This record gives sequence, C-alpha cells and structure tokens, in this order.
Amino acid sequence: MKRTYIADSLKSVGKKIRVCGWINSKRDHGSLLFIDLRDRTGVLQVVFQQEVNQKLFSLAQELTLESALCIEGTIRERPKGTENLQIKTGKIEMIAEDLEVFSKAKTLPFPLEKANQVREELRLKYRYLDLRREEMVETLRIRQKTIQFMRKFLQEKGFLEVETPLLGKSTPEGARDFLVPSRLHPGKFYALPQSPQQYKQMLMVAGIERYFQIARCLRDEDPRADRQVEHTQLDIEMSFVSQEEILSLIEELYIRLVKEIFPNKKITKIPFIRMTYKEAMRRYKTDKPDLRRDKKDPDELAFAFITDFPMFEWKKEERRWGAMHHPFTKPQVEDIKRIKESPESILAYQYDFVLNGYEIGGGSLRTTDLEVLTAVFEVLGHKKEEIRKNFGHYFEAFSYGVPPHGGIAPGIDRFLSIVLNKPSIREVIAFPKTGDGRDLLMGAPSKVKKEQLEELHIIVKNYP
Ligand code: ASP
Repeated sequence: MKRTYIADSLKSVGKKIRVCGWINSKRDHGSLLFIDLRDRTGVLQVVFQQEVNQKLFSLAQELTLESALCIEGTIRERPKGTENLQIKTGKIEMIAEDLEVFSKAKTLPFPLEKANQVREELRLKYRYLDLRREEMVETLRIRQKTIQFMRKFLQEKGFLEVETPLLGKSTPEGARDFLVPSRLHPGKFYALPQSPQQYKQMLMVAGIERYFQIARCLRDEDPRADRQVEHTQLDIEMSFVSQEEILSLIEELYIRLVKEIFPNKKITKIPFIRMTYKEAMRRYKTDKPDLRRDKKDPDELAFAFITDFPMFEWKKEERRWGAMHHPFTKPQVEDIKRIKESPESILAYQYDFVLNGYEIGGGSLRTTDLEVLTAVFEVLGHKKEEIRKNFGHYFEAFSYGVPPHGGIAPGIDRFLSIVLNKPSIREVIAFPKTGDGRDLLMGAPSKVKKEQLEELHIIVKNYP
C-alpha cells in the first residue's frame, strides 16, 4: 500500500491508509494503547485495541519511543470529547490494523521534549536526533524560505548566480586560511575561501556586472563562543555602481524580506539609518550600535549602515598596519603619497550592515587603480615582488578593461539568529561546529592514516 503523509490523512476519514514515521509518544490505557506517530508533515494519533487484535496490540506495546515504522489502519473521527484542538489532526485518529517496524530505537540520550534543558554539546553530538524536533525543522524551513526569497529577488533584478571554487588561493579577509594540501603538486596548498572576494571581482572583469552567490566562507579564527569557522553569506558584486546604489539594493531586499517572511517584525526606521563610522564611535562608542527604540521588544529590527570606515587599523601585537576590511577596498583618496604618509587618516568606501547591535554584513567599493592597490599593499607591509607573486592575477586582470565595481556580503546565519531570537547562531545551522571549531557529531577534526599524510607529502611533528 502506498504511504500517505500525515497531513493528508485529514482527507482520508473512513478510508484505510498507510502512514510512516517515528513514535513521538505512547500512552498505555490498559486495553487501549495510543501512539502518536510523527512524520515530517505532522503527528497522528493511532489507536491499538487489545480486544480486536491481541497480537498486534502486544507488538505495539513493545515499541520504543522514536522507533521508525509504518502503520496501516482506518482513519475515523475521534469520539466526542476526545478531540485535541492543539494539533491539526486533533479531530481524527487511526485504528491500527497492521504494523511494520523498520528500526527499533534505543533509549535516546536525551528526551526530545527536554532538548532545551540539556547540555548543548549533547545536542550537537546527536544532532540527527535534535533535528527531529519541530522547532529545529521549522528553523530550517525559514532558512530555506529566506534564501529562496533572496535568490528570487536578485534574479528578478538581473543578477546571475555563479558558483566560485572552494579550492582556490587565499584571499585575505582578516582571518587565517584553512589550507588543503595538494597530492599532485607536492608542497603546494589550496586555500579554502575566506570569501569569494577575488573570484567575484574577476567576474566583474568578465562583464557579469551583477553577481550573487549563497556562499560558504571558511575562516580559521580563534575560538569564540558564538562564532563559526564556516558561515554562509549572500555574496554580491556589481559593476558601474555607486555606494548608495548598493546600500539601497540591500535596503529594499531586507524590507521586502522582513515583510514577506517575518511579518510580525517591525523595522525601526525606513530608510535604514546611515551613519559614518566616526559618528557611530562618537555617539555610541561602537561601530555596531544597537539603534532599537525599545531594546526589550523581541520584534523590533533596527537596521543601519555604518559608512566611511578607516582604510587601515594598527595591529598592536604585530606592530603593523592591517586592512580594516580587506585590501581591495577603495581608499577615499586619489593621492597615493598620502596613503603612505599617514595611513591612519585615510577613509575608505567601506560600509557595514548592522542589525540590533550586531554586524550582519560588510562591503565596499573596490580599488581598480593598480597604483593605489600597490600602495595599499605596501602599507600593509607587502614587498613589491610579493605583491606581484601573490596577486599578479589581479594586476593582470585589471589591465584589460576593468569596470568600477563594489559589493557587499550580508551573513545569513547571524541575521536568522537575530530575527528568530535564538540564543546562538548554532540554532539556525543544521550541523554547526562548537566555538572552537569541533564537529561533535562527526568527530572532526580527526587524525588521518599515516599513508594519507605520506601521499600528501606531509610530515607532522610528534604524530603518535
Ligand atoms: N568579502 C567581504 C566579506 O566577506 C565582503 C565584501 O567586501 O563584499 O566580508
């Protein structure tokens, strides 16, 4: 018999159907046994009657919570007074006639309904169980809707979604790279992308003009409680645009997104507040001010753009200048001499996208003048030969007709965790890592076989 989804059982009153799923709960009432069966569309009450079928009844009695099975039976309306109006199928039930058990579940490491009270590490280790909970699935659904909305919005505005490589060359974004050793090219390494920055700029040289990608970014950063070593961002790049055109596009996208997918939320101010970095620091002593009117209101969203960031920041420990964003950002100065003479005074066409006191994205207009780009790299401490070696492709590409361009990359995980009032970004990611980069489910990172290391031409110090 073909399987019917539980949501469709509502249309089957009086009919025999087969439903499949997991045992959500079980109640033994002497000669009657109730099982709530859950599939991805809902929960259905199934009744086993001892006097009708003793064998089936005994089988059902032995079933454990969360076992996977199919049940055949007839759907009927529940007797008067026993309806449960809390659930969609609360007016019907199934009288069981047959049972097929696929996998009997052991006692779970934590009861699913108590997931919010157990150590998070336990939930991460058994994520496949944690994800059986409706709250988690609902978050994934909202995540999908959000991404789908972004895709549709940008496609309608003439953007082209392009996948850029995961195995590439390092792009500085302020973190360390995850390196991947090459087996075929001994001693050489790919870098996993900290962002698709360089590739998206190459797409502008290619004449794509409007690019986006739901991009995975990997950054080997120091441990922090609410940070992920990989995150997803909506990566965007455009040619022949002004800073304001980029900000307006993002503004329109988020206003419409909130209206459509989070209609209960109120946006504090439209158009979004635009404030320079200097002003934000002066008024709020932070570059990500929380501009909500009522900080206790869980439904208020205060979006803002912080603009005109300094181009460089002094890295105390390393005693050198670093790029506040990344080196490809365009300085607000045409005079190269000034960049070298007083890096601290140079502002950039760089902006952050801020929500309720969190940075949820950043972007900039890019330098296309090769002399300026060279000067920036020099301030950052790169030698001329090094610049050519590491970024030669940039210099080459930019000498064949490069359009002025710029972009932005709003993060998807952080936005969702704020808008859904989740306590951490791990709640909106199916398989998140811990703050120190461990995947507790898979046990990664893990050791590998000696032979694998040998193939990769790698010698690890003190490898046991
Ligand atoms: N590549 C930048 C980042 O990932 C965003 C951008 O400048 O477009 O933060």
